[in-house]
Amino acid sequence: MPIYEFECCKCKTVYEQLMKVDERYDVLECPSCGAKKPKKLATAFRTHAWSTFLDNMEKKISPHKFK
Ligand SMILES: [Zn+2]
Repeated sequence: MPIYEFECCKCKTVYEQLMKVDERYDVLECPSCGAKKPKKLATAFRTHAWSTFLDNMEKKISPHKFK
């Protein structure tokens, strides 16, 4: 599951969120002010290989999530 970074449209707080690829992110709430519809940021330092690695780790830890 990839990690995305979002920037609050109101207070500009940047926060990270684990998201499924097809999961809606406009309902996410800013941890600082509670505003929704954050702006999705490009996360250059999180490569696809790293996401795959995390996915594999999660499959080992909690295989019931991947039925
Ligand atoms: Zn905010």
